[in-house]
Amino acid sequence: MVSACLAGYSSRYDATSRLIPFFSQGVVLGYFLPICPEMWAGWSAPRLKVSILGGNGRDLLAGRGRLIDEAGLDLTGELLLAVSMILYNYRNRLPPIAYLKEGSPSCGVSDCGMGHEGVSGPGLFSAALSACGVQLVGVE
Ligand code: SF4
Repeated sequence: MVSACLAGYSSRYDATSRLIPFFSQGVVLGYFLPICPEMWAGWSAPRLKVSILGGNGRDLLAGRGRLIDEAGLDLTGELLLAVSMILYNYRNRLPPIAYLKEGSPSCGVSDCGMGHEGVSGPGLFSAALSACGVQLVGVE
């Protein structure tokens, strides 16, 4: 599995990608499954940037903290639902390893984007994958 933006999809909040040819070529060859949890949430690109208030992705899974966009809209439930849908969809074929974009409140492995309170740690998608036993590799 790989964050879709690393494979060249313009799925970031500013409608850009962070293309790394190794991953895009791997997707074409069928070695990597590109996933964007925020696209699974039905969000558009471009969209307002989101950040985690009150913790990181592990806290959101535990019912603490909130995911809000720049307008202050609480999108915690939407991203939780999207992550649940991904895990359900791939429940019998989760990959052993996932390469995920650092600095994202969804995909960050050790850096979820330093939200308003400067709290880092995994994003929501990373925390959920890790809880399912997937090995995570953060990609800058
Ligand atoms: S970092 Fe994750 S959530 Fe953000 S655009 Fe890339 S794949 Fe989507």
